[in-house]
Amino acid sequence: MPDSIPYESRQPDGTPLANKVCPKCSGAMSPGFLIDRGDHNVGRQALWVEGLPEVSFWTGLKIRNRLKIPVVTFRCQICGFLEFFAPIIPPA
Ligand SMILES: [Zn+2]
Repeated sequence: MPDSIPYESRQPDGTPLANKVCPKCSGAMSPGFLIDRGDHNVGRQALWVEGLPEVSFWTGLKIRNRLKIPVVTFRCQICGFLEFFAPIIPPA
């Protein structure tokens, strides 16, 4: 597990989300992410997608023109609690 996470995983004020404390047991939490498997079983970081899911005959779900943010997940090293964040990505 990396000691730091890329800027995409930081809060808007630049404060890293690392070094979080578990809200259930106060244990240390490690950053990570969930993986999705796409075409040809290619692994990709899971995305938060704005709005409610709408089924698409062609693509599975309609996600075109929606805000999409990579999801960062923290896992408690003691109890395993997971906490999810979809940090705002600063414009390039
Ligand atoms: Zn915990």
